[in-house]
Amino acid sequence: MTTPVRDLPLLLLGTGSDPASERGVDCPGELPPASDPELVERARAAKAALGGEVFVLGHHYQRDEVIEFADVTGDSFKLAQQAAARPDAPYVVFCGVHFMAESADILTAAHQQVVLPDLAAGCSMADMATFDQVEECWEVLEDAGIADDVVPVTYMNSSADIKAFVGRHGGVVCTSSNAKRALDWAYAKGSKVLFLPDQHLGRNTAVLEMGLSLDDCVVYSPHRPEGGLSGRQLRDARMILWRGHCSVHGRFSLDSVEDVRRRVPGVNVLVHPECKHEVVTNADQIGSTEYIIRTIENAPSGSSWAVGTELNLVRRLANAHPDKNVMFLDKTVCFCSTMNRIDLPHLVWSLESLARGEVVNRIEVDPETAHYARVALDQMLALP
Ligand code: SF4
Repeated sequence: MTTPVRDLPLLLLGTGSDPASERGVDCPGELPPASDPELVERARAAKAALGGEVFVLGHHYQRDEVIEFADVTGDSFKLAQQAAARPDAPYVVFCGVHFMAESADILTAAHQQVVLPDLAAGCSMADMATFDQVEECWEVLEDAGIADDVVPVTYMNSSADIKAFVGRHGGVVCTSSNAKRALDWAYAKGSKVLFLPDQHLGRNTAVLEMGLSLDDCVVYSPHRPEGGLSGRQLRDARMILWRGHCSVHGRFSLDSVEDVRRRVPGVNVLVHPECKHEVVTNADQIGSTEYIIRTIENAPSGSSWAVGTELNLVRRLANAHPDKNVMFLDKTVCFCSTMNRIDLPHLVWSLESLARGEVVNRIEVDPETAHYARVALDQMLALP
């Protein structure tokens, strides 16, 4: 098992590394300068030299300059399905964040090596649930006498340690595309769910798609004794939400929805379910990243859309559909800073290193963690 992390000391960018968390920062080599005018040509040349030896996966939130070199693009669910699609490629370069590269390592064959071009590409949400904290939470559930009734469900956006914890305890991984199906499956097995680490996805799915009430949900805070909940509250709850959130989607507010409706008559508000409950309940449509893309693609010319998800994707959608008025839901919310860590210099560096036979920034999950995380991931891929 990878080393559990309790405290998360600050690591200044470019110094040190913390491979047991989402926040490694070291770049052990010479990065090409961002101003190098040959970067695009160098990336093309390195990829061509590698040919079928490399398979590049790109998450929708990546920069355009990186997406250009992806063999497959997708959200975390699609990329998890695609990770194993090219078993002939010895190298998988994952342009996304650390937990996604971990899942790719778990789902690919043993001879394949997964590379994350910048180890600082972590996810603040994934870091909000550490292994020690989740173990402690389970003890609280045992003390309350309810652990046998609880099925743990973790969002894909969690470390391999947490996925393995869930696999060991008979649970499942979910993504924003299949959260309802995962909860249907979990509630057929037990009367309660512990949902990790995104409280918003858990609450929005439970209340808007499963018919639970807000009173059926409680929030477990890993920073308070017993999670800040009494035994009675835990016994009465049907959905125990972990106090975690996405630092990008969590920033959209009801004010941003009301403001865009005032400014743009007839606008459709389309948001991701990682947004807060009051944002989602005041939007016109809610859906995963893939759903958002399909909705904009199928929208009539001339229609207006305020989209509440990551800015790189919204900008790409706006550029791809100039006949539609596609805008960002909130002017003050910015890119996902960790997704944005993967840039052309890091991609060139990793591809050129691979072309020289040197594997850099390999993401490798230890066999025991990988085994149990795979149990929970396979359960997700097998959901009806
Ligand atoms: S957008 Fe949010 S959930 Fe996705 S990687 Fe960034 S911080 Fe994590």
